[in-house]
Amino acid sequence: MRRPARYLLPLLLAASAGCSDTSAPRVADPAYDPTQLSSGIIYRWPTGTTIAVYVDPTAVPAGVDLTGATAAGMSAWKSALGGSEFAFRTAATPADADVIVHVSAAPRLVGLAGCAEPPTFAGGVTFFCPARDSALTLPLAGANPGRVKLDISVNPAATSAVNTLRALVTHELGHAVGIGGHSPDASDVMHGAPAVHTPSRRDIATLQWLVRQVIGLRL
Ligand SMILES: [Zn+2]
Repeated sequence: MRRPARYLLPLLLAASAGCSDTSAPRVADPAYDPTQLSSGIIYRWPTGTTIAVYVDPTAVPAGVDLTGATAAGMSAWKSALGGSEFAFRTAATPADADVIVHVSAAPRLVGLAGCAEPPTFAGGVTFFCPARDSALTLPLAGANPGRVKLDISVNPAATSAVNTLRALVTHELGHAVGIGGHSPDASDVMHGAPAVHTPSRRDIATLQWLVRQVIGLRL
């Protein structure tokens, strides 16, 4: 019997990376804990960031539309907050990217900046390497170090008619915008085995809470 897919967000946080937040305005509680996988740390992009995403075509199997799934996920998360906190755009090259999306069969285009290799996974993994209060740049090969902060690896072979590639990529992009946790509710895209491909009201409420918190770790 096939084991259910796991979607891991490995976070290797410095012990001192804490956030003492007593000044943020009170807002509705998140629908689930968005720091469950990040040791309680709020990580996100500074407000107003346009997040540039490069989709690596290397080793993408025929018939797998990774570019389309990524575009749909970017659009879904941007519209979740009306574009008020962050936006996305497609990057033409890795050197122009903040985030790289690739299939797990493709070699990573970035180094790990000293962090440990992410654990093995079935469906997908979103990786960044945190320092004390910010994520380190993941270096590209060559003279141009780039500015990539996040590496998303997905395995199309772990998707199905229910847990689709679009659901998987949107889930990983949810981690990329700061949701460092999983929902226990299968109707949420941030469920550990996502079966929906757009953020639910609960996902959006969680993200709305998140962007009102003081950043503990800046992407
Ligand atoms: Zn996940």
